[in-house]
Amino acid sequence: MKKEIYSCTFTQLDGYFEGMAENPAKAALVFDWLYRQKCLCFADMEDLKASVRTALARDFTLRRLPILQQQENEQVCKYLFELEDGHSIEAVLMKHGYGHALCVSTQLGCNMGCIFCESGRLKKLRNLSAGEMVGQLLAAQAERGENIPNLVLMGIGEPFDNYEQVCSFIDIVTDVHGLDMGPRHITVSTCGLVPGIERFQFRSRPNNLAVSLHAANDALRSQLMPINRAYNLQDLMDSMQKYASTTRQKITIEYLLLRGINDDLDDADALARLLRQLNCTINLIPYNETSHSKLRRSTPQQTRRFFERLKRYGLYVTLRKELGAEIHAACGQLRAQQMADT
Ligand code: SAH
Repeated sequence: MKKEIYSCTFTQLDGYFEGMAENPAKAALVFDWLYRQKCLCFADMEDLKASVRTALARDFTLRRLPILQQQENEQVCKYLFELEDGHSIEAVLMKHGYGHALCVSTQLGCNMGCIFCESGRLKKLRNLSAGEMVGQLLAAQAERGENIPNLVLMGIGEPFDNYEQVCSFIDIVTDVHGLDMGPRHITVSTCGLVPGIERFQFRSRPNNLAVSLHAANDALRSQLMPINRAYNLQDLMDSMQKYASTTRQKITIEYLLLRGINDDLDDADALARLLRQLNCTINLIPYNETSHSKLRRSTPQQTRRFFERLKRYGLYVTLRKELGAEIHAACGQLRAQQMADT
């Protein structure tokens, strides 16, 4: 069976050439062709011997992800891509003044079952390969005609439920022979899979970690996010503390504001108490209402009160700008909509 070339880390490709008794420097040439020259065909890799090009074409596939659908406004551009097996995945480009960021999907559907999230309605069909994640970035860059300097793994899926492929993806895009992205320009967002957080802290070039918290007590969090029944707040706090101290990095805490559910000032106080000792930034997220859920977003007044209350504790708090609401950019919404249409 052929392997996707975009799923190969530099080390794996190096191993492949060593197995062929070829000069290992070939891996650097291939990475250069793929990620710097954006070459789309092995036959065009001119400085490789014909026999090497033939071997690559025999052993690997090289395919760009076609864009099925695209929706754009001034702040975001949402892409729907077609995978080789006919399924579709989405990525969202967020146009920030300080540099664009691409939000990529890591799984086809998601099994975490968070009650507020559209992705969870579409159960996980399979993990995405590293190459399918690389493909989202390359296709979006090609469509924009420019590099995209920041990545957030916050699309559909739970990155730590696809740990190996997610790490290969990060290794590929940060490799010096290719795209050479800065590890700190990559943020991985998790719903709180503690074993993933514990492993992730020991990678040699750590990335930013974001944790979707959404509640400051176990009873509520378990109701909103089933993962909390397996790894409770104490486990999660411990693993975040370790991550912050091993990597010497601030963690981003995501907190979705749900009207009448977690947006009381008492909730803000509980959140502040919980996070007091953690080196973190709290990002308050307005809920993107979906037609399948009765949950409502907090009112602007309550959002403001919650924000101000947290600030009083001296915590770093930001209020996420709403970028994509009007074009269904919330997690899973475009894909869900497309599946409903077909
Ligand atoms: N599984 C990972 C990453 C994907 S979800 C995680 O849970 O972090 C990315 C973020 O979007 C999470 O913080 C998630 O809780 C949030 N989210 C999900 N549905 C949303 C909605 N309808 N409106 C706003 N944010 C949502």
